[in-house]
Amino acid sequence: MQRILYIPFDQLHRNYGVLKSANKSTDVIAMIESQNMIEGANWHPERLFFLISSARHFAQDLQDEGFTVDYRKATNTPTGLQEIQKKYEGAPIICAEQSSFRLTEKLTALNAEFIPNDFFLTPRDLFASWASTQKSYLMENFYRKQRVRLNILMEGDQPAGGAWNFDKDNRLPPPKNYTWPAYLEHSRDQIDTEVAKELNMSPTTTWATTRKGALAQLDYFIKNHFAHFGPYEDAMALDSWSLHHSLLSPYLNNGLLHPAEVIKAAEKAFKTGKVPIESAEAFVRQIIGWREYVNGMYWFLGPDYRNNNQLQANRKLLPLFEDPDKTQMNCIKSTVTDINDRAWVHHIPRLMLLSNLALVTGTNPQEFLEWMRRVFIDATDWVMVPNIIGMGVHADGGLMMTKPYAAGGAYISRMSNYCKSCVYNPKLRTGDTACPFTTLYWDFLDRHKETFAKSHRMSQQVFGLNRLSDLPELKERAQEVLEGLEKGLI
Ligand SMILES: Cc1cc2nc3c(=O)[nH]c(=O)nc-3n(C[C@H](O)[C@H](O)[C@H](O)COP(=O)(O)OP(=O)(O)OC[C@H]3O[C@@H](n4cnc5c(N)ncnc54)[C@H](O)[C@@H]3O)c2cc1C
Ligand code: SF4
Repeated sequence: MQRILYIPFDQLHRNYGVLKSANKSTDVIAMIESQNMIEGANWHPERLFFLISSARHFAQDLQDEGFTVDYRKATNTPTGLQEIQKKYEGAPIICAEQSSFRLTEKLTALNAEFIPNDFFLTPRDLFASWASTQKSYLMENFYRKQRVRLNILMEGDQPAGGAWNFDKDNRLPPPKNYTWPAYLEHSRDQIDTEVAKELNMSPTTTWATTRKGALAQLDYFIKNHFAHFGPYEDAMALDSWSLHHSLLSPYLNNGLLHPAEVIKAAEKAFKTGKVPIESAEAFVRQIIGWREYVNGMYWFLGPDYRNNNQLQANRKLLPLFEDPDKTQMNCIKSTVTDINDRAWVHHIPRLMLLSNLALVTGTNPQEFLEWMRRVFIDATDWVMVPNIIGMGVHADGGLMMTKPYAAGGAYISRMSNYCKSCVYNPKLRTGDTACPFTTLYWDFLDRHKETFAKSHRMSQQVFGLNRLSDLPELKERAQEVLEGLEKGLI
């Protein structure tokens, strides 16, 4: 064999990356199950199962197609690749650019040859050339450029539907007396069973581990959810854990689906006239806007960005993140239970519940980041680092987002049905039944008032502190809440 084509577990697509130029008679495909990675953290079992089983299915498909595949378990990725290189007499390693700084460093040390990573719609240098001309990295500006560049939902040089943004039609609370479509179940085969046995776990039927299953999920979303995606995309409901979200992030992130395929399916459905523009636009914004922006920012901001802690947040990770029985807050208990069940919740619980709680309690950003990376099915370095450090907990001092996403119970009460059955009251900021989010929101603003008063987007909120006649009482309650959260009693 003349070349070793390395495929990491997040580039599982036949038509992209190194496989584009693969030759069955002269190339060996290398895939490594790193034991250090598997045993290195207390990963959510569903996440490990999904990543490993998808990779083993992919290797099997390549073998069935006639490729020589060397799929092996090794202490770590470099060791595995060195073993393969030894077997094939020093053949060169070729791979697509890796998705994290850490893997890039490891592959560079092995003298691997990189081809551009085409698992995204925006080359890294193109994003950098946009970002380096911006005063502030507004996603909205990037997104509009993407719409024009990729010619998606455009009518000539104007946005389809006459506007770039339909947020005014969206952001609805959860609907009442509503029947949600059934969840799509993915059946398990022999490879799945073997992987589950090795991991000593029983997988749910929530996540597909094959290309066929990922395509079925895309089709199910387009037919059953897409038309309603926009209006309820920010709502949180006790009677549906996924609402009208697509559940496509795991497949987009491990390569079983390419964003171009998802966009093509969405555009095709929009052209039938059955999908309103507010849903089509909202979904397209997530894929060509947010997803590409976050990946671009990861590479643009560099490897040290993850270490930011500009708000000096040093509290240890609260016990409720690991165990939902350690809290009485209905919204958090329900969210952490959902994560334990299937390693997923949608963007609003991630941002406005989990990250918001970490932000207002002053939880250490790096500890929170590590927890989020461990428990989500779709967590990867490139997506978690900007979403947490920049968007979730404002640890970069506003470099990525000009304003922290801090909110009290009123927001959560408006966008969900958690509060009605909670022991706390979202309207109260003091007293034993005050909503911890409401109390801690004001306490957070007060703790950082000097920093935030300088920001034109925050000064009004900080000014609101002056209207609180009960601030001393609130500060006392905030201390009780923080101590109670640490003890798992709130
Ligand atoms: C604090 C925080 C942490 C997050 N961590 C991750 C993560 O580890 N992995 C991940 O894939 N997404 C992450 N997201 C983004 C988003 O929450 C998930 O992509 C989404 O919930 C996945 O479910 P879905 O496929 O049903 O998404 P939908 O709501 O159906 O959206 C469609 C797609 O848009 C993309 N997308 C939307 N928002 C983002 C975003 N902010 N960043 C990147 N892609 C986006 C995803 O690929 C998603 O599949 C995070 C968001 C926040 C606020
Ligand atoms: S009252 Fe507060 S803690 Fe309870 S569910 Fe509502 S927002 Fe969450």
